[in-house]
Amino acid sequence: MKLLDGKLVSEKIKQDIKAEAAEFTAKTGRKPHLVAILVGHDGGSETYVASKMRNCSLVGFDSSNLHYEDDVTEAELLERIRELNADPEVDGLIVQLPLPAHIDPEKVTEAIDYRKDVDGFHPVNLGRMLRNLPCFIPATPFGIMLMLEHYRIETAGKHAVVVGRSNIVGSPMSVLLARNANPGNCTVTLTHSRTNDLKAEVLRADIIVAAIGRKNFITADMVKPGAIVIDVGINREISTQTKSGYKLYGDVDFEQVAPKSSWITPVPGGVGLMTIIGLLKNTLAAAKKTIYS
Ligand code: NDP
Repeated sequence: MKLLDGKLVSEKIKQDIKAEAAEFTAKTGRKPHLVAILVGHDGGSETYVASKMRNCSLVGFDSSNLHYEDDVTEAELLERIRELNADPEVDGLIVQLPLPAHIDPEKVTEAIDYRKDVDGFHPVNLGRMLRNLPCFIPATPFGIMLMLEHYRIETAGKHAVVVGRSNIVGSPMSVLLARNANPGNCTVTLTHSRTNDLKAEVLRADIIVAAIGRKNFITADMVKPGAIVIDVGINREISTQTKSGYKLYGDVDFEQVAPKSSWITPVPGGVGLMTIIGLLKNTLAAAKKTIYS
């Protein structure tokens, strides 16, 4: 078993991003700028946004966290998004999900200018991804592809089974793995809660991508010996053993599955760190206008 080490890969790529950001700043007199909108006080969301802001500063980006209370109206939020769309000093704009029930996440996602949509959730970006055109790729799948690329994992001809079909992880991941590209060229099975005999499907996988949101869901008896295992899950549990008061678990039972796998991502220290890289790379591309002019 070998580790797909998100810490190592993300640190290396961050150095490249930092150098490019410095070049951009020297040329334009300003830093790439990411704005995050956060609504409410979900502990996970607050942690993720804080981490995104911290990483922006580490690579020489500006970042702003616009934090709203739970009772912000949908209209107020949409108006703010329109202002940020028009602001030339804002390169990337993300709205942290989930949103409170009275705000429609589809309306919010579509309100963001697709040229600033560095999360890659806007239908224009998702559509362009499907057509293999330049676009912002959703940060988590983008980060996973960068990880596979870094370790030169041969994916062509492999059977990939993606567990979970969300718009932000599972579905785009299945598209990217099936693309005629490297990494890519997999034969992909996309599974979900209505899949018949999930275990049989996962057992056929050369590459497993687990994006379910359930602690230790993928167990050793579901994994073919030698499989490559990508664990997207972040399941937070209260713990007295950590400084933060939380412990993170993946969707894969790491202890049991790792000895059977050829490559595996740990949680924490795997996909989560690569997601940040996906976001930083998209933000830099937005600032440099390399995808959309
Ligand atoms: P969603 O809740 O949006 O989607 C979960 C998916 O899992 C759904 O497609 C659902 O199926 C499927 N699922 C649920 N239960 C089962 C089951 N028993 N059998 C088969 N499939 C099942 O989650 P996300 O995609 O947003 O996130 C998944 C996990 O990844 C979470 O732990 C999340 O915290 C984590 N995450 C981590 C990131 C990172 O940076 N590492 C980034 C984003 C998410 P159905 O569609 O039928 O309901």
